[in-house]
Amino acid sequence: MATSLNIARDNPNAAPVVADKTAVLPSPAEEKPSLIGLSREQLAEALGGIGIAPKQQRMRVAQLWHWLYVRGVSDFSAMTNIAKDLRALLAEHFTIARPEIVDEQISVDGTRKWLFRFPARGAGRPVEVETVYIPEEGRGTLCVSSQVGCTLTCTFCHTGTQKLVRNLTSEEILSQILMARDRLGDFPEAQTPQGAVVPSEGRLVSNIVMMGMGEPLYNFENVKTALLIASDGDGLSLSKRRITLSTSGVVPEIARTGDEIGCMLAISLHAVRDDLRNVLVPINKKWAIKDLLDACRAYPGLSNAKRITFEYVMLKGVNDSNQDAKELVRLLKGIPAKINLIPFNPWPGSEYECSDWERIEEFADIVNRAGYASPIRTPRGRDIFAACGQLKSASERMRKKDREAIAS
Ligand code: SAH
Ligand code: SF4
Repeated sequence: MATSLNIARDNPNAAPVVADKTAVLPSPAEEKPSLIGLSREQLAEALGGIGIAPKQQRMRVAQLWHWLYVRGVSDFSAMTNIAKDLRALLAEHFTIARPEIVDEQISVDGTRKWLFRFPARGAGRPVEVETVYIPEEGRGTLCVSSQVGCTLTCTFCHTGTQKLVRNLTSEEILSQILMARDRLGDFPEAQTPQGAVVPSEGRLVSNIVMMGMGEPLYNFENVKTALLIASDGDGLSLSKRRITLSTSGVVPEIARTGDEIGCMLAISLHAVRDDLRNVLVPINKKWAIKDLLDACRAYPGLSNAKRITFEYVMLKGVNDSNQDAKELVRLLKGIPAKINLIPFNPWPGSEYECSDWERIEEFADIVNRAGYASPIRTPRGRDIFAACGQLKSASERMRKKDREAIAS
């Protein structure tokens, strides 16, 4: 249930209202385990635990999978091909409920940002998580969080100023997708009476990027479980080519990402020299540019049809010279790559400025002339603080006057 709905679109001059919640969330009541975010094997095991016979488990898992991930139901009572007493048994032991919506904001450009609250459910304390939906012509991208806060401290990133609260569970990662589809009316029940899987082209959430809060490769197992469910052909059925995982450069997990998840890879490069990258993306002190690019060259499945995206934030006077652009081209030689130039999104207290537009274009021209696609990422949802690197949730909220200063 929405406790606060703030639609900036209706009143573009209004400062976004963020629910005024205290940093410390109430201590958890006894929560039932959720069936969302379990692999098929884990689901079968959970059913075994409440007495479902092994020879029935496969069929029951298939039924549940369909209801949860094709139809998107969030109540056992909607599962009409499952007998009433079994539905009651399931409801007695498990939940499939969605998280609470603490806040929903819609930008003047149509970008939506949600703040979801998940109960504790044995995963430590309850958490509040931000998820962003970016509608585009003929497609829509959901930016999903993997952690609350981040252990890393990239100096240009707002999330990096929030200490890690905890890793999200696979339920919490996957539920961000389910919630977005609920809120956008993107489940097939609303579109096709048969409840068949909707092809990617016809969907509002057609693409997923693991570019919300946190470093996904520091929460590998939960991210993997969630993304394998998201791409499962009998369920949400999102093509792995439409799922991109962005990492700041956790080198030892890069090969596993290709082998075990098989999604598209994005690398937050942001600098072409180790001395500068050590400052901007401090994980570079552990795994330097050369190690990172070697891991990229070896990325399983890499080809011209499946390129790595290199993200490069444009910071005025810091990393945006023509020399930097030329060095970038030299470094990436031989790697099937796209370069995504991201205009820096400011936040209160940030010490950087975004490069001037002409500078960004000149930088892009050099990269383009070398044969790399180098789209400049249009900042989306800045007025509701939903743009790249601006996410930072409950535990430390921005003061209203700071938000207004940034949005103006
Ligand atoms: N932790 C992962 C994924 C989340 S960040 C990573 O670092 O890759 C998603 C992207 O937004 C990253 O490329 C990140 O470097 C970029 N980003 C962070 N802060 C930003 C800001 N203030 N302006 C523009 N891009 C930013
Ligand atoms: Fe963490 Fe990514 Fe932000 Fe760096 S850019 S602090 S890795 S979320």
